[in-house]
Amino acid sequence: RALETAALEGYEDRPFSPGKNRMSWIKDKAHAELARIREAKEKQVYPFFRPFETGGLHTTIAGQPLVNFSSNDYLGLTTHPKVKEAAKAAVDRYACGLSSSRVQATTVAHVELEERLANWFKFPKCLVTTTGYQAMVGTIMSLADIDTTLVLDQLSHACILDGSFLAAGVPKSGAEIRFFNHNSAKSLDRVLRTKERKNALVCIEGVYSLDGDQAKIAELIEVCAKHDACLVLDDAHGTGTLGVHGRGILEEHGLEGKFPSEKLVVVSTFSKTFGGIGGIILGDEEVVDHIKHRARSFLFSATLPVPIVAAASTILDMLEESGPQLVGELREKAGYMRKSLKEIGFDLGHSDTHIMPVMCREERKALFMHVALMENGVMMVPITYPGVKHGEERLRLNVTRGHSREDMDKCLDLLKTYGEAFFVLSGEEIGELE
Ligand code: PMP
Repeated sequence: RALETAALEGYEDRPFSPGKNRMSWIKDKAHAELARIREAKEKQVYPFFRPFETGGLHTTIAGQPLVNFSSNDYLGLTTHPKVKEAAKAAVDRYACGLSSSRVQATTVAHVELEERLANWFKFPKCLVTTTGYQAMVGTIMSLADIDTTLVLDQLSHACILDGSFLAAGVPKSGAEIRFFNHNSAKSLDRVLRTKERKNALVCIEGVYSLDGDQAKIAELIEVCAKHDACLVLDDAHGTGTLGVHGRGILEEHGLEGKFPSEKLVVVSTFSKTFGGIGGIILGDEEVVDHIKHRARSFLFSATLPVPIVAAASTILDMLEESGPQLVGELREKAGYMRKSLKEIGFDLGHSDTHIMPVMCREERKALFMHVALMENGVMMVPITYPGVKHGEERLRLNVTRGHSREDMDKCLDLLKTYGEAFFVLSGEEIGELE
């Protein structure tokens, strides 16, 4: 129950009282919910939805140049001229969108990319969807039923939680949901021993997006095998960053092909390393075909536009040609940043990847740090409640292959200066600041 309470923070029903000049209950609800956001805006520390004026890591907001350390463009390929050219050529041939779902609007470009991705990832079959979120929601919903216990890591991404809630809420055929302690094979084992339904579908992530820690994949897979459980692995942040060739967490730990593909579905995305948008579902031929014909989020939403397919396909060319070099360069930069941040004295939680949470452990510290960095040309998004629990507030720092040594050194200098000024390094309470 404690695990469930923690995992579901942010989903609770928040009652609100009607406003004085009640026009409508939705208006009243919105007004009540926006209280914290209004306050942040008034204090000029509201950090979200700030519009970039150009793409790429080096951009501007309201005319001010800045380098983005919150980007998920891990291999820095989004702005590569070949990627842009491929997308432009696809606009000429297919237009921007196809105005339909994949059922009616599949192109040879989609089919070719699916075949190439299946080959590259070494899976029997691949389905490309319009977002990773949609891919996960559809995968869980189409596989789970009344005989299923969905077994979720306590720190699961919203797409895993939302897919599970939808699967559990289906009238008369809802699945059971259970949680296990983050990354704990022992806790997973306990849940699988006590689950109520006959079939278990365990859902984990390759790299946890806010903590940057890798799944203890070998141990977790062993427990799944012991209990004959099937596994859904979300490798959104491991794709292109882990494994010598960038094939992700399974390659990193020498586990490709070790867990039977009949029991495994890997879900990933084009919105990080592949530099665009789109979801990837990899698995057994029939399992993926079943998802393709049953995943409501996929069937009832529009096709991934071909310019995006062409861009992803061009990035796949690059990974095929020089994956080890691209991934190696990212790792070298991430290694430099990690070592330097630790030398300064920052707490990076359990991170062992290119995603490094700079732990602030107080909302105001994270917001003040964010503003100070922005004013000096470095963007790093703060993660606050309900993204993380109270007391776990942080700046999410992503190192990418596109960052130069100069970018990283500038970022380190600023973090040191403001980490001292706002007591992030000392851990003291921030008190009242002007
Ligand atoms: N899974 C994880 C772990 C993610 O971090 C994200 C993106 N934030 C997604 C899935 C969703 O992917 P997409 O952006 O393609 O919808």
